Formats: sequence, C-alpha cells, structure tokens
Amino acid sequence: MKTEVLIVGAGGGGYPGAFRLSEAGMEVLMVDPKGELGGNCLYSGCIPSKTIRELAQLHWRNRRLLDSRDPPDFNKIQERKDSVQLTRFVQHRKELTVHKGVSFVKGEVKFINNHRAIVQGEEVEFKYAVVATGSTPSRPHFPGAELCLTSDDLYSYRTSFRKLPQEMVIVGGGYVALETATFFNALGSKVHILVRSDRALRSIDPDLGGLLLKLLDPNIDVRYNSPILEVSKVGEKYEVLFSSSGNKDKLTADVVVVATGRTPVVPEGLEKVIEITQRGFIKVTDSMRTSSSNIFATGDVNGLAPYFHTAVGMSVAAANNIMSGNIDSDRVDVRGIPVTVFTIPPASYVGLTRSQLRTMNIPFIETSFQLGDDSMAQMYDERGGEIRLFFERSSLRFLGAWVVGIHSGFLINELTQAVVNGLTARQMSNVAEQHPTTNEAIAYAVRKLI
Ligand code: ADP
Repeated sequence: MKTEVLIVGAGGGGYPGAFRLSEAGMEVLMVDPKGELGGNCLYSGCIPSKTIRELAQLHWRNRRLLDSRDPPDFNKIQERKDSVQLTRFVQHRKELTVHKGVSFVKGEVKFINNHRAIVQGEEVEFKYAVVATGSTPSRPHFPGAELCLTSDDLYSYRTSFRKLPQEMVIVGGGYVALETATFFNALGSKVHILVRSDRALRSIDPDLGGLLLKLLDPNIDVRYNSPILEVSKVGEKYEVLFSSSGNKDKLTADVVVVATGRTPVVPEGLEKVIEITQRGFIKVTDSMRTSSSNIFATGDVNGLAPYFHTAVGMSVAAANNIMSGNIDSDRVDVRGIPVTVFTIPPASYVGLTRSQLRTMNIPFIETSFQLGDDSMAQMYDERGGEIRLFFERSSLRFLGAWVVGIHSGFLINELTQAVVNGLTARQMSNVAEQHPTTNEAIAYAVRKLI
C-alpha cells in the first residue's frame, strides 16, 4: 500500500493536520489503535477528567450553598462522563465522513525505515509521516506499584472504576495529582497526597503555586518530603508505607493512585530512524521537523508543551509545512500558550510571570485584583484568589499574568489575546468588561495603572 502522508495517532497532534491535508487534496492514512479520534485527551485525559471535575464541583457547590446532604452517585457521574466521551467520538466520526481524503484505520504503526511502516500487518510506503503518539502515565518502581491505579484507570472510557473510595492516597505532586485530589475531596473522599520533595507544582511559578496550595481545602492532607516505599494489599484495603522526614509512616486507603508524570510513546522502530532526546522525546525543530526531513512529530511526544491546544497548533503547522512542498513555512511558538491547573479552585497563567521576569532581569510593574471583591466570586462564595498582571515598566506593555481562583481557565484566554498581541495597559483599559462577570477583575486590575 502507498500513501502521501501517514499520520500516526489520532489525537490533537494528529487529526487536525490530517483534515487540513485532505482539504488541500492530499491523500492521508491515519492510524490509531483506539479506532476513534481524540487521542488520550478524549479517551482518558482532559475531557473525562474535566467532566468529573465539573460534576464534583456541582456537588460541592450544592452542598456548600444549598445545604444539600445527598451523597454523590459516583456510578452516575462515570456514566455521564462516558456519555460525554461518546458524544465526542460520534462527532469525530461525522468529521471523518466529511474529510473523504483521510482513510482511518484501527491499528498500531511500526516503522521499518523513514519511508516504510507496518500497519495491520501490511507494509505501507509513505512520502511524509506525522508522528503524534502522545504520552502515557509513568509508573514509578516500588514494591506494590502494580496495585496502584493511574489516571487512565480513573478516567478512561467505560472504566471499571465506579465506586467512590472513602479514603484515597495519591502519590505525586504535579497537576494530575492535585487536580484528582480536589475532585475526589469535593465528592467527599478523604484524600492524602504524598509529595516526594518539599514542594508541589514544581513546574510553575513558585509564588503562583504557593497561592494555589494555600487555597486548597485544608481537608486534603498534603504530606511533603514523603517518598513512597511500598504498597501492599491487606484484605479489601491497601497499606501505603512511606518515608516521613527520615522515619517510616503508614496510611490505609481503598485506592492508591500514582500520578508521577507522563512518558512519551515512541512507535516501535522509529528510534532507529530519527533522533530521540535523553528523556525519550522525539527531537523536533520549531517547524515540527524531526531529524529525518520527511517525518514530523507533534503533540506530547515531542516534549515541547504537553497540552491539547498546543498539539493542535503543532499538527496544523506540520501539515502546512508538508503542503508547502516540505519547506519550513510554519513554526510553533509555545511561549504564548495559556496553561490551567484545573484544581477546585483552579489556577492559570500565560506569558512571563514574576519569577521568570526576575530571572531575565526585565524591569516590570505588577497590578492585581483580589477575587474576594468580585461579584460573581461572591455569588458562588468562592472568594479566594487573585488576578495578577505583569507589565514592562517603561512601556506598560503586557507581558504575562496569573489568575488563581474561580473561572481562571476562562479569564486566561482573554489575557492570552492581550499577551500574544502585545497590548499595553492603556489598550487593555479600553475594553468594557461585562457586568457581572469575573472578567471585570481584569479591568479593575488594569485601571490601577492608568
Ligand atoms: P497528542 O495530544 O499529543 O496528539 P494523545 O496522547 O492525545 O496525543 O494521543 C495520541 C494517540 O496516539 C493515542 O490515541 C494513541 O492510541 C495513539 N498511538 C500511540 N502509539 C501509536 C502507534 N504506534 N500507532 C498508532 N497510534 C498510536
């Protein structure tokens, strides 16, 4: 079999580019073992976990604001999650019928060389390939690690995890660990988090991370400097042995979840064809090109920025570069992308924030607004958190922001527009932010400078 473009993986790094290529009249073969579009993001990641987040938040708001005492029906929550996933699978199937130039095959791609691969036992010759195979939860090595669940077990489509645990231990200090902890805490589970080092959320601005951690429900038991030693099954429960400031300590739980990062998935045989970094990612340029000029790698697998919204941009850029006759006509800049930690409450950031500006010696001025004074935050009685904007001192050009608290994931989109387009405080103050929405907080913060 022959194809012009082989797309390996049908997630955010795969299908947007496949559709664009087919719209340009190119012949595309896209392959994914799931047999559905959407990748891990839809199958076991962003969509299912955020559906659970929204439902957990609903339950929590009902309990806090309306004094509801009904226990959550966790099976119903998982059913609702499955149905959202199914809705999106069906939507993607329809998109496939529109893009007739894309043949979609269920299977796993193995590479023979930089122009040949095996798909469903058959050899396929391709002119170009886009590798968008994503990442998978990593599993640390300790005795009993196989007894622990990963985010895939909690959130996968039609998962068998349907009973709300009374007590849960989460191993890890990154965003998946914290998000999961807040969802299950909101549903009423007692959650313990074991963080190996003295700090959680190491990848974000420490001042922002500190603010978020202070806002988390104190009912969540976060233990720092607590590396896990062993997990064992005792009856129906799990015993978790961990180190605690040099001594051994123990917790018992119904479920132990490991959330210790994600590992890139490189298709078999590709490691012989292109360059892989020491950390296991596929090495790419900003035009998404690998060390083999006809092969591109997009999304989580290239390690540049592991978010669906960046994977889509990368996928389209790779397609544009193929369409323009394999020249670097499109490049991806991952610096202006917004990031949200979808905890309850959430935190978001974009551009340059305090610690980076200090490290880079850029003179800056900051302004803020406390969400406690925002009308919508008051309606929900979720008054913790702030919006903080950073401007270049001389020009008042907007450089970056963080938002901690209610609606941060929405607010950061408007702030991203302003950062990416290099707006000044004056330009930002020209906008009438709608009343009553949390966006007003942006106007209040900016106006302090004008
Ligand atoms: P991204 O957002 O980075 O594109 P995802 O992790 O959401 O990535 O999706 C990657 C997809 O790639 C998954 O659906 C996975 O099943 C698929 N995949 C992984 N390995 C292979 C392979 N060898 N051949 C085809 N598809 C693969």
